Amino acid sequence: MRGQGAERGLSAGYGSRNDETRQHNLSTVLTTVHHSGPMARAEITRRTRLNRSTVGALVAELVELGLAFETPPEDQTLRGRPSAIVHPNAKVAALAINPDIDALTLGLVGLGGVVHKRVRYELDKTPSPEIAIKLVTRLVDGMRDELSSVYRLVGAGLAIPGLVRHRDGLVRRAPYLDWTNEPFTERMGAALGLPTYAGNDAGIAMISESLYGVGRGIKNLVYLNGFAVGIGGGVMVAGVPLRGEDGYAAELGHTVVPGSMLPCHCGRRGCLETEVNATRLRAVIGSDSLDLDELDTVLATTDDRAVRREAERQVAVLAGAIADFISVFNPKMVVLGGFLASLHAAMPEKFTEAIVEASFQPIVEGVRIERAVLRSRLLMVGAAELAFTPLLLNPAGNRSTAEEPAEAERPTVSAN
Ligand SMILES: [Zn+2]
Repeated sequence: MRGQGAERGLSAGYGSRNDETRQHNLSTVLTTVHHSGPMARAEITRRTRLNRSTVGALVAELVELGLAFETPPEDQTLRGRPSAIVHPNAKVAALAINPDIDALTLGLVGLGGVVHKRVRYELDKTPSPEIAIKLVTRLVDGMRDELSSVYRLVGAGLAIPGLVRHRDGLVRRAPYLDWTNEPFTERMGAALGLPTYAGNDAGIAMISESLYGVGRGIKNLVYLNGFAVGIGGGVMVAGVPLRGEDGYAAELGHTVVPGSMLPCHCGRRGCLETEVNATRLRAVIGSDSLDLDELDTVLATTDDRAVRREAERQVAVLAGAIADFISVFNPKMVVLGGFLASLHAAMPEKFTEAIVEASFQPIVEGVRIERAVLRSRLLMVGAAELAFTPLLLNPAGNRSTAEEPAEAERPTVSAN
């Protein structure tokens, strides 16, 4: 992407270097308010370590690009000149889409992680790619007027319960949807007419929790989600999501654990998700229709000995697996979502003791075990983040020379 200076015909040596710096700084400021919420210009200056007048100019440019806006300072009594509050423009939005075995969820998420809308469409049977695309386009068509008059859509992000090839979004294998080598991302993008990106659902949930949830600011994190069927994993290493060569890393549910070596959907035997399993909990409770919230309540309140015994068995197996993940990744925090969080909440002391007991001691010291907090926003904000990423990296990137106001018309930038 050519920079602004080059387009304006500034002398090459000066322009390109300067543009790179400007693009990087614009990206830093927009990303800061997008992830951390509205903040005073002075706070942006402090966090980014840029100088005050540079931040003023960058904010003015983001405002001009329609990506941010400013409001007057809240507290006029503070020492020094109060500085304006910079907000990410939540009307700049992305679609978040999650096809799953029993439902399809569509969200409209604005900059700043604001979930404007979330529609969960219940399904009688597992959707084919065609059905999923048809449903999404129908739901989006229903919002078309509002989308075009109120929002500025930058793209779509797909949270897929399966292996997604990073370079092109090919759904390599989604066992519960029974999709194999499905170019779903490409097809959905063509149907929506939007740049479309995809990732594994648990990896996306990990990103959500680390940006807007309990893992905020944690650079080394292991995330495990107990879905209605299966266990998904995501890992953050030194602040970067672990992706692997093709995007398939962190399939933590498909690591082999001690137990009855039952066959797994992935083709192996004895995977963690066959032993620690919501269906097996439901079977002992005697109700196979419990959703994850109901399961949470039952596990928290039950005095049925058989249910307690099965929950304890699953906790012991899960604790052993978590101890292994702690040894491999040396995280600061392990975040549990879905029914895994319910298992933890039902017996937190026993759970923690079992992890410590199974661990290589010095590595487990100081590791925090936490419950995911984002609930219904969990997959939405992370999926939207996939679509926001190109914009965050290069906020002025899509500007054409024609759209740019002449230099003289640009707003004057003050130091504060
Ligand atoms: Zn497996």
